[in-house]
Amino acid sequence: MCALKLRMENNNLSKLDKIVSLTKRRGFVFQGSEIYGGFAGMYDYGHHGVALRQNIVNAWMRTMRMHGKMAFLDSSIFTSPKVWEASGHVSGFNDPLVVCFSCHSKLRADHLLESVDVQADEKMSETELNELFDTNREKLKCPVCGKKNFGKVVQKNLLATSTLGKFEEEDEEAYLRGETAQGIFINFKNVLNTGFYNVPFGIAQVGKVFRNEISPRQFLFRKREFEQMEMQYFVHPRDAEKAYEDWKKERMQYYIDLGIKKENLRWKQHEHLVFYARDAWDIQYKYPFGWDELEGVHNRGDYDLTQHQKFSGVDFRVMDEETKERYIPYVVETSAGLDRTILAVLAESYDEDEMNGEKRVVLRLKPSIAPIKAAVFPLMRNKPELVKKAEEVFGALKKEIPEIMWDDNGNIGKRYRRQDEIGTPNCVTIDFETLENDSVTVRDRDTGKQERVSVKELTTKLR
Ligand SMILES: [Zn+2]
Repeated sequence: MCALKLRMENNNLSKLDKIVSLTKRRGFVFQGSEIYGGFAGMYDYGHHGVALRQNIVNAWMRTMRMHGKMAFLDSSIFTSPKVWEASGHVSGFNDPLVVCFSCHSKLRADHLLESVDVQADEKMSETELNELFDTNREKLKCPVCGKKNFGKVVQKNLLATSTLGKFEEEDEEAYLRGETAQGIFINFKNVLNTGFYNVPFGIAQVGKVFRNEISPRQFLFRKREFEQMEMQYFVHPRDAEKAYEDWKKERMQYYIDLGIKKENLRWKQHEHLVFYARDAWDIQYKYPFGWDELEGVHNRGDYDLTQHQKFSGVDFRVMDEETKERYIPYVVETSAGLDRTILAVLAESYDEDEMNGEKRVVLRLKPSIAPIKAAVFPLMRNKPELVKKAEEVFGALKKEIPEIMWDDNGNIGKRYRRQDEIGTPNCVTIDFETLENDSVTVRDRDTGKQERVSVKELTTKLR
């Protein structure tokens, strides 16, 4: 795309649209099933998106290890349907749906009410919700068509179902997991019985979850298939509050370490607690569309283990070494949305500025999470001696820093623009001087400053 066309297009787009466009253009994120017109709430990660995602996961796993006494788990997406009955998701994990009769849009009744500053409580029954909706019906307008022609509010369960293993009418349908946490609770005893861990300790896992969102929206923010990075920390009830406060601090620090500015992060306490929580705070990020959730830090009490004890008959109590009494541990949960974190990091690092009199788009990603650490260019690709030397440098460097990229497409200016958009911190150019004295230029993404570095010192410089 030519620079002028890009500039004109960019002027008319919102920041979120610009991020969507950049991530597609540069191979971070593609719309799911795009060739068939898309599939609501689905996105596919491309080459650079996969690398960025992995770097964010690695940073998360590192902070979990650093906390200490942490077991990792990878539980299956499909579980016995009883898991979701015990957890309360089958009966209590709902979103209120209302349909616009004029344009057939399916809308969240609570979001509609929020648009006129009316708060719907998560615990409200269908009848209560309908009363609240009817009281405010006159004020409510469909955000899609502007009409005021709504049906009744219906509670819709968020769990997605599947016919996996269902061959006859009487076979049960299975749920796709709606959160990774339940896989952790049902494996609590297994981890405990390995003998490596005793309370307090945590179990952490990263994995896909599925929710039947009524209106998936805002790009990676509200998807129907998404990924969580969850950790459940099992503590004695008397230590739960202290553990909760410690985790709150650590989790906020994680986002700052990813390169997100403090002023774009805040804590928000839940006004209405979900069915399992004793206390709940969200870390919110200032997305291009406003403040919204990035991660939830919850004190779940002994709700989950008690429920699974009741439904499975397995004893989940542990021994208090001091008092010799048996008790069910409390759970402090940190539940991060991986896709939301990717979106926050992209929004945070997206920038437009001018360099050498030319407008550019740049992703100011922290080098530790940038998908590509350096790009290597021969100054000209039609000079065999330059290309040969550049291949040598590239080959040697790749053994030290595998996340590098070869780029000889178009002139140097174009290559810089491309790497800036990927967020590559450094570009290494092999020119005629390299052939004379074995030095290369290293150009900094943020300042555009170029420095001559000897090939010998290149790895150290880039690290
Ligand atoms: Zn409508």
